[in-house]
Amino acid sequence: MTLFEAHEWGVWSQFALGVCTFIALVFISAPYGRHTRGGWGPTLPVRAGWVLMELPCVLAFAYFFFQGEHSGELVPLILLGFWQLHYLQRTFVFPFLIRVGDRRMPFLIPVLAIAFNMLNAWINATWIGTLGSYGTDWLQDPRFIVGALLFVAGWAGNIHSDAVLRGLRKPGETGYKIPRGGLYRFVSAPNYLCEILEWCGWAIMTWSTAGLAFAFYTFANLAPRAVSNHRWYHEKFDDYPKERKALLPFIY
Ligand code: NDP
Repeated sequence: MTLFEAHEWGVWSQFALGVCTFIALVFISAPYGRHTRGGWGPTLPVRAGWVLMELPCVLAFAYFFFQGEHSGELVPLILLGFWQLHYLQRTFVFPFLIRVGDRRMPFLIPVLAIAFNMLNAWINATWIGTLGSYGTDWLQDPRFIVGALLFVAGWAGNIHSDAVLRGLRKPGETGYKIPRGGLYRFVSAPNYLCEILEWCGWAIMTWSTAGLAFAFYTFANLAPRAVSNHRWYHEKFDDYPKERKALLPFIY
């Protein structure tokens, strides 16, 4: 099997995983955060779980990328920069900002996430570093420009929305409050919405099936959780804003 064929298999596997994940999460909420519950095996501290599961996105991505013959070229390096902008924050900053006290998550969450992240890092890094072909003229292509703008807007919106949630807890607190302001005026999960938009931006700026598979998977993973979180808010808070949607402003 050629590298190109193996890559196609990887991409289609990721689409298939997305479909399975979406169906599973419609019925079962992933058991971390507000949906944590017993019966999911051994656990580890939440912070350690986040670092562990996101680490392949930084390290494995860089490793696969630098194996590639295009890894010294300008555009692939810029794309690497966008990827690492997101994942350095998610792996080494986000876990140390969250206010989760000594809460734990099941080991199963990082185990599944690491398996997915390895595949995702491989298909995306191999495309950018080896199989894809991006000359410097790609920087002026409308697909790169629109995708990059969407990526940055999604990234900034995701960071801001996560920061609003963090601000709800004073040091030492671990309870839940109604988030207000920013994109929370429109939806219950703007951090998820912005994350989905960010990876749609990645798909557009790389114009690749690997990028599209990741954007699709992100939607499949986060859309059902946004709906679960939205329902959870309505059950927990009688005064939860009625007009607020789950994920898509004014729509759903
Ligand atoms: P949540 O919105 O569930 O929680 C984010 C943080 O805020 C947690 O520390 C949580 O605490 C806290 N929090 C949430 N709601 C409240 C509230 N109402 N009051 C007080 N504190 C609150 O996000 P996730 O933990 O699911 O995800 C974190 C980040 O990771 C997001 O940016 C998300 O987009 C991203 N992500 C990306 C995925 C992908 O497929 N690309 C998959 C999963 C996450 P606690 O943990 O105690 O609930």
